[in-house]
Amino acid sequence: MAFELPKLPYADNDLQPVISSQTIGFHYGKHHKAYVDNLNKLLEGNEMMNWSLEKIMTETAGKADKAGIFNNAAQVWNHTFYWNCLSRNGGGKPNGTLLTKIETSFQGFDNFKKEFSQAAMTQFGSGWAWLVESQGQLKIVKTPNAECPLTQGHKPLLTIDVWEHAYYLDYQNRRLDYVNTLIDKLMNWEFAAANLIVS
Ligand code: MN
Repeated sequence: MAFELPKLPYADNDLQPVISSQTIGFHYGKHHKAYVDNLNKLLEGNEMMNWSLEKIMTETAGKADKAGIFNNAAQVWNHTFYWNCLSRNGGGKPNGTLLTKIETSFQGFDNFKKEFSQAAMTQFGSGWAWLVESQGQLKIVKTPNAECPLTQGHKPLLTIDVWEHAYYLDYQNRRLDYVNTLIDKLMNWEFAAANLIVS
């Protein structure tokens, strides 16, 4: 069974004007698809083809001779997760348990936004900023390239892709504008809350 490119949870113009359909066209239609195609090629005839992405990531993380498989598997997982973190009805604030946890973990929601944005800004080069739960605590972490907190024992709740391909067509070098607009307008708090509940 080959891995497939999951359907986007919205139309390619649903996130405009924050993320253009042109960016979605390249980011989802070319970059995300290429990770899926590369992974399938790398796993031809390999028993890992029948494993879950999560298992492939966990088993290959940190192994130099498996870097190609890890990078492509993790980028498939990271991108599918990222698309679900965005919604045209997103932004604003979470509610309930998630809001309480964020407020107590980060000294208030506004401060959380500041720290999340800062993590996205200070990830040097390509990578990801994440809100994760780790041993009952909420934390912000950043990862370089394809790395994913899942293989470090954290439970991802939200992510922001800060590879240049995520924003360059719309924002050029202005990563801060991309990050802050995305947090304010598109962050899918329902998805984050659902991730918090799933054990
Ligand atoms: Mn990307």
